[in-house]
Amino acid sequence: MLLDAGVVNRCRRRVHLEYDPQALRPTVAEDPTAQQRITDAAAHRRSVSGELSRLVGSRWAQVPSDLPTAERVAATRSLLDARAPAIWGGLLPADSDGGRRGGADLLVASRTGYLPVIVVRHKVTDPGAGARTAPLSAPWPGKARHDAHRKVRAQPRDQLRLAHALRLLQSAGVAALGRARGGVIGLDADVVVWHDLDAPTWPGGRTAMAEYDLRFADRLAVAQAAASDAEPLAFPSRITECRSCPWWPTCGEALRRGRDVSLVLRGEDAVALRGAQVSTVDDLAALDPAADPPVPLAGMGFADAVLLARAWQRDLSLVRRHTEVTVPRADVEVDIDMESFGDAGAYLWGCLLSGAGIGVTPGYRAFATWEPVPTSDEARSFAQFWGWLADVRARAAARGYSFAAYCYNELAENRWMVSSAERFAGTPGVPPVADVEEFIASSHWVDLFGVVSAEFLCAHGKGLKTIAPAAGFSWHDSEAGGENSMRWYRDAVGLDGVEPDPVQRDRLLTYNADDVRATCALRRWMSSAAVAQVPFAGDL
Ligand code: SF4
Repeated sequence: MLLDAGVVNRCRRRVHLEYDPQALRPTVAEDPTAQQRITDAAAHRRSVSGELSRLVGSRWAQVPSDLPTAERVAATRSLLDARAPAIWGGLLPADSDGGRRGGADLLVASRTGYLPVIVVRHKVTDPGAGARTAPLSAPWPGKARHDAHRKVRAQPRDQLRLAHALRLLQSAGVAALGRARGGVIGLDADVVVWHDLDAPTWPGGRTAMAEYDLRFADRLAVAQAAASDAEPLAFPSRITECRSCPWWPTCGEALRRGRDVSLVLRGEDAVALRGAQVSTVDDLAALDPAADPPVPLAGMGFADAVLLARAWQRDLSLVRRHTEVTVPRADVEVDIDMESFGDAGAYLWGCLLSGAGIGVTPGYRAFATWEPVPTSDEARSFAQFWGWLADVRARAAARGYSFAAYCYNELAENRWMVSSAERFAGTPGVPPVADVEEFIASSHWVDLFGVVSAEFLCAHGKGLKTIAPAAGFSWHDSEAGGENSMRWYRDAVGLDGVEPDPVQRDRLLTYNADDVRATCALRRWMSSAAVAQVPFAGDL
C-alpha cells in the first residue's frame, strides 16, 4: 500500500472510506468550485515553472508530466544521479517500506543532496521580517537569507507536504544532510520561503517532521485496516471539512442513525465529550446546563451545547435565548453586502436603502467595477460607494433622523473598506483610513451576525442562508452562494480569456441584491411579533 502526501491533511474516516473496498463510492457530482481550485492551482504552477525556467536558465531540468509513471520516476532518477541543480516535475521512487509515494514540484540541489520545493496558490508570507527567503532566480537553500520585509505564514499543510517529499528523498538516498528543510513558492510567486522542518514550532514542541511521522503512521494503519477488512480504526465524527466532503451522505447518515454527539458539537469537543461518556445528542441533552461541564469545551459554552442538543432532539433549527429579541433599528437604514474575488479585490458594494425619506431614492443600488480585479477602477467604485453612504448619513443627520447600516458578518466588509482606503489613498472620493475606522467603530455599523449569535441558538449554523429562511426570505437563485459566485465572476468579467458574460453579471447583481434584502428581512422579522413564535430556550 502506497499513500500520497494528501492523507496527512485528510480526515481519518475519509482515509478509511477511500481504502475500504466495501464502501459505496460517493455519488455526489464533483464540486465545481473544487474543480476550479484545481484548475487554478495547475495554471499557477505552469506560470511559476515558466518564470523559474527562464530565471534559472541552463541549470533547469524538467521531467515531462505526460510520461507514464515508471518513466517519470526513471527520468527523475537519472536527473538526480546527474546532480541536476533544479528538477521540475520530479516523481520520486516509491518508498515501499514506508508506504508512501509522490514527488515535489521542484527538487533543488544543495551541497549534500536534494530538498523539496512546492508551489501553492495561497499566501505564504505576511509583511514583517524574519522569514528565510531565496530569490526565484536562485531557488537553492544556500541562497536563502533573512528577509527584512516578510515573515512566515506557518501554513501547516504545506509543511506536512514538504515533510512527505523529504521522507521520499531520504528513502531514495538523495536527501540533503543536516536539518530538514523545504521551500514554498506562494501566490505572489516572488521568492522561495524556506521552512525549517526540524524547528519545534508545532503544538507540544513537536517539529513538522515529527508531526508528519505521527500522522502518516496513523493514516497508513487506518488505510491498511480498511483495505484488509480488519476492525476499523477511524469512525465518522462531524468536523468542519464535512461541509465539502463527498462522503458526507455516508457519514451524515451514520451519525444521525447513532444520534452522535458531533451533530451538535463538532471537532475536538465531540471527541472530548465521547471520552467523558457523553456520546450521543441524548446524553448531552440530559445534562444540567447549569452544572459544570464534564470536560472543558472550546467551541461553545456548555449551557448552549446542552440547549442545542435539546433543540436538535425536537428538530428545532432556531431557539430564542431570551424572552425578548432585540435588534438595533433606525429611522434611515442601509443594508450592505460586499463581493470580492479572493484576495484580488472587492468588485461590488451593494446597498439597500429603506426607512424615512431623505431625498434619495430608496431601494437597491450597486457600486461595481466590471474590469477584472485587481484594477484601479476598483478605486472609482469604492469612492462612489463611500460617497453615497456618507451622503445618506449626512442627510439623515441633517433631518434629525437616526441612521444604521447593517451587514452580515462584518469581517469581510471591514477588511475591504480599510484595505480600499489604504490601497487607493489619494484617489478622489476615497476616504482617509481614519474615517473608515471611525465608521466601523461607530454604533451606526451593525453586524447582524453578532445580533443573531446573541439572540438565538442555531442548531444548523448561523450562516445567512440558514437563518434568513426563518424570517420567510428565499433567494431567487437556488445556486446562490459565496463559492458559486466566484465562478460566475470569472465568466462575468471574462477572466479565462473568454468574452465577458452579461448574463453572469446580472446573476451576481441579483445574488447581491438578494443578500441585502435577506438582512433587511431578517432584522425586520427580529423586531416583529412573529419572532415570538421561535421556541424559547428556557422552555426546552
Ligand atoms: S464526511 Fe466528515 S467524517 Fe466523513 S469522511 Fe468526510 S470529513 Fe470525514
